[in-house]
Parts: sequence; structure tokens; C-alpha cells
Amino acid sequence: MNSIENMPISGKTKIIPILADPIAHVETPRIMNMLFKKANYDAVCVPFQVAAENLSQTIEALRLIPTIAGAVVTVPHKINISHLVDVKGPQAQIIGAVNAVRFDEQRQMHGEMFDGKGFVQGLINSDLDVGSHLKVYIAGAGGAARGIAFALLAQGVKSLQVYNRTQATAVALIEELKKYAPDAVIELADATPQQVDLCINATSAGMLGPQQNTLPFAIDGLEANCCVAEVIMNPLKTQLLQQAEQKGMKIVSGQAMILAQIGQLAAFILNEPELAQVRL
Ligand code: NDP
Repeated sequence: MNSIENMPISGKTKIIPILADPIAHVETPRIMNMLFKKANYDAVCVPFQVAAENLSQTIEALRLIPTIAGAVVTVPHKINISHLVDVKGPQAQIIGAVNAVRFDEQRQMHGEMFDGKGFVQGLINSDLDVGSHLKVYIAGAGGAARGIAFALLAQGVKSLQVYNRTQATAVALIEELKKYAPDAVIELADATPQQVDLCINATSAGMLGPQQNTLPFAIDGLEANCCVAEVIMNPLKTQLLQQAEQKGMKIVSGQAMILAQIGQLAAFILNEPELAQVRL
């Protein structure tokens, strides 16, 4: 029988909100809490629905609560929160977006970005060779897309085509990417990718909710040996992935990306490096 002492949350438990809007689609609380259980670590990740216009007030409130260790940050806050952090980590400085924040003892907020490296590691864990031969297409120019684009260039991919619904944002991102990797082939693309080895949906199009039936791009022009990868975790198999699978293409779901970075996120937020070693 359960005794009170064995119940998971006490007055000492560290709290990690995930800040998002919408919130119903997020899978990070389940996965991070699974990690805490496996590591026998006294912390809990909980969903906080925070509208874009309330982000800065929310941060000021969290700063006042010492049991809040930090936060996971996702759609639509990753770029805006990068302007609110007191100390930016190296990836956050390059990418201009943040997906994890930690409050230190003085309640200064440190921010870092793990999406890009997590995505690349997720591909590698899915047996994809991410090297200099790879021609890549990416849809999106928001927080997740930025992280992934910089990480792929750091990996030395052969070329990168960028498409976004709002073209001006893609153009601005391409300018930044070209400064970061002046020798790489980086081009603006449309919603019909062709002749690439890897196509990535790094937009919210297709995620649970009103956007679930929206396709981020058309796969008709792709060869069957192209791989299609998602950032979306919920649903696990988006319409895009279903279509790609029907064409016999290799698919990688958004779960690979979160599983590859969850330990790093927890380690950063709680300032406990050993949590990065926990495998789920
Ligand atoms: P942002 O709000 O920063 O960016 C959203 C991006 O999606 C923009 O490029 C936006 O285009 C595009 N977009 C939104 N709606 C549509 C639509 N209907 N059609 C086409 N494009 C659209 O969000 P994030 O980058 O933080 O997150 C994007 C997705 O990635 C979310 O679904 C999130 O859950 C997922 N994610 C998954 C992770 C994982 O580990 N698997 C980690 C991080 C994020 P525009 O500029 O035109 O508005």
C-alpha cells in the first residue's frame, strides 16, 4: 500500500513549468517526468499555458518563486524569451532562440537552446547519416527551425533549402545562416521540395488541434529514397509522415528529437550534469 512518504511531490520538490500556447499537444512533461522517475530525482515538469503577450509578466512571477528551478520553453515563446534572459548560453547566442531557462541563486535567468543538437542526434539515433553529402530542405523559420538549421550547418550538410509560410522570415533567417556558414549552399525554397535527401517539417503545421490537417509542404516531387522528418510529437504520426510512409520513404517522428535532448534539458534547468546521462 502507498504510504504518504512514498507519494512523489513534497515541499522539497523542484518545479519545472513548460511554457506554451497552445499547451494540449505538449509531450515534454510525460517524458521529463519519466526521466525524473528513472533517475529517482525529486522534480516535476508541469504544463503552464502562457499567452504570448503574458510571457514577460509570467517570467517575473516565476523569478519570485524559489521552488521553480527554471522552465522548458516552447511554441510560440522561444524567440521572444531569448530577449528576456539575463545570461545566454553559447547556442542561444548563435541561434537567437531559447528552449530552456534556469534561475540561479540570485534568480538571474540563464537561457540555452537544445533543439538543434537534439534534432540532429535524433536523426543519428534513427540511423540517418547526417554528413557532408546531405541535401536538406527545411520548412519553418521559428524557434525550432532556427535551432535545427544552425545545427545542420554545424554538421556540414551539403546544402540547405529554407521555406516558410511567411517568406520574409525565411529570407531573414537565410541571411543569418549565410553569415554563420559563408561557404554553405543556402537557398530560399517554396512548398514543393525536390531533389533533396532529407525534408524536415519544423513548423507547427500538423500538430494536434486546429492545424492537425494542415500539410507544411507537398511531397509529390520527392524520390522514395528521401527521408522525411518531423518536429511534431503529437500526433506521433502526422499526416505528412503518413503520406511519406505510404510512398515508402524513411520517416523520423518528433519523438526522436525530444528523446535525444530531454536529459540535456533537465541537466541544464536543474544544474545537475549527471541527468544528461540518463537514457529513456
Ligand atoms: P514558433 O512559433 O517559433 O514557429 C512556428 C513556425 O511554424 C513558424 O515558421 C510558422 O510560420 C510556422 N507555422 C505555424 N503555423 C503554420 C501553418 N498553419 N502553416 C505553415 N506554417 C506554419 O514555434 P516553434 O518553432 O517553437 O515550434 C514549432 C513546432 O515544433 C511545434 O509544433 C512544437 O511543438 C514543435 N517542437 C518539437 C520539439 C521536439 O523535441 N520534438 C522541440 C521543439 C518544438 P510563420 O513564420 O509563417 O508564422
